[in-house]
Amino acid sequence: MGSWEVVIGMEVHVQPKTKTKMFCGCAVAPLNAAPNTYVCEVCLGLPGVLPVPNRAAVEACLKTALALNCDIPRHTKFDRKNYMYPDLPKGYQISQYDLPMSVNGLLEVGSRKVRIRRVHLEEDTGKLIHAGDQLHKAWESYVDLNRAGVPLMEIVSEPDLRSADEARDYAMELRTLLRAIGASEADMEKGQLRAEPNISIRRAGTEQLGVKTELKNINSFRALHRAILYEVDRQAKVLESGGAVEQETRGWSEPEQRTFPQRSKEYAEDYRYFPEPDIPPLELDRAWIEDLRRGLPEMPSVRRARLLEQLPAAQVAVIGADKDLADLYETAVANGAPALPTANWIVNEVAPTGKLVSPRSLAELMKLLQGGAVTRDQAREVYLESVETGRTPAEIVAEHGYAQLSDESELRVLAEAVIDANPKAAADYRSGKKQAMQALMAELRKRAPHANPKVANELLLKLLG
Ligand SMILES: [Zn+2]
Repeated sequence: MGSWEVVIGMEVHVQPKTKTKMFCGCAVAPLNAAPNTYVCEVCLGLPGVLPVPNRAAVEACLKTALALNCDIPRHTKFDRKNYMYPDLPKGYQISQYDLPMSVNGLLEVGSRKVRIRRVHLEEDTGKLIHAGDQLHKAWESYVDLNRAGVPLMEIVSEPDLRSADEARDYAMELRTLLRAIGASEADMEKGQLRAEPNISIRRAGTEQLGVKTELKNINSFRALHRAILYEVDRQAKVLESGGAVEQETRGWSEPEQRTFPQRSKEYAEDYRYFPEPDIPPLELDRAWIEDLRRGLPEMPSVRRARLLEQLPAAQVAVIGADKDLADLYETAVANGAPALPTANWIVNEVAPTGKLVSPRSLAELMKLLQGGAVTRDQAREVYLESVETGRTPAEIVAEHGYAQLSDESELRVLAEAVIDANPKAAADYRSGKKQAMQALMAELRKRAPHANPKVANELLLKLLG
């Protein structure tokens, strides 16, 4: 394997954040909507209707293109991509061919500079549910056109990625960026971000690109990573046994953890692209583009660099990847929260659950925890209660009487009682078995769960001499 170089380009389909579909007034359907309830004459492709581009989708696409350092041409147009599919009643998809909304961008992922060929806008197709589909208990084939006409941005990279790790990191960086600029929620589980890597291998040191295969509609970072590893291995085996890789589209089977052939690759000429006659070309006003550029927030890479001046890389990897977490961290610290403990709290307690509290409340809780007013376990309960009720940590601590027992005279009485009740553990400790202290501390915590562990431990040590 060492002698092969992996070459990967990515097409990523992203659903921009819009209320309505790409060319009609239908609302974008929620995931659990009954089939075919979010449709109209336009997205059903009935004859004689006229599509009208969605301004919010165009704006989201332009913002994405600007954030990816793309050039925005003065004119752009839509084209018909013709193919016959049961999930596409018009017989063509409105997409963009030779005058896309943007070209020539760049995204840095770690040390890799990935060139972006283009970001363009198109519409999604419907969804087929086939007979035998156990999930939907389907015994015949059905089509649900709720998704037909939903806006999609297609972000196409040059083949600049060199491993499955880089391809996954690229997709994750795109998600972070799209969320940061508010262009998309980019939730892969909801199908709002789908990755299609094209993969080839070549002998290390050679320039000529190998024959590529394209993997369709991968909807998790984990699947993306595994599918690429599998495909690279498969191609290497084919070539090493004297065979030839066929240019084709392949799917990824999650249950079997393998790729499988879907169809031989089509070429652009197969689609007989031609300009969409019902939509005039768009003129992209320079003043509008500059407004959009000025309106972009701080880019995630810039924010990450700033966070790295305050925090270790491991914490920044988590906090810097999510705008909500980064906002929470920075605002809490601005409200007086201690930096590293707050970052650790966000990494360990907030990121895994996705439950966000107000920055002011987090700052208050961190100060209570730092000052020894609550134990870590109590802080966790206070945090969750604050998320649910919106009340402040100080209120919750006062109400529950959670405040930690740090009073030395009270703790001394408690520690003496624990030693009296556990003469064997006490004797063990005195004779040098240091681990006996754990049993004594456990006993103490059982009697007083809110005891300050640091003070209690010091008192036990003192009493045992
Ligand atoms: Zn419609």
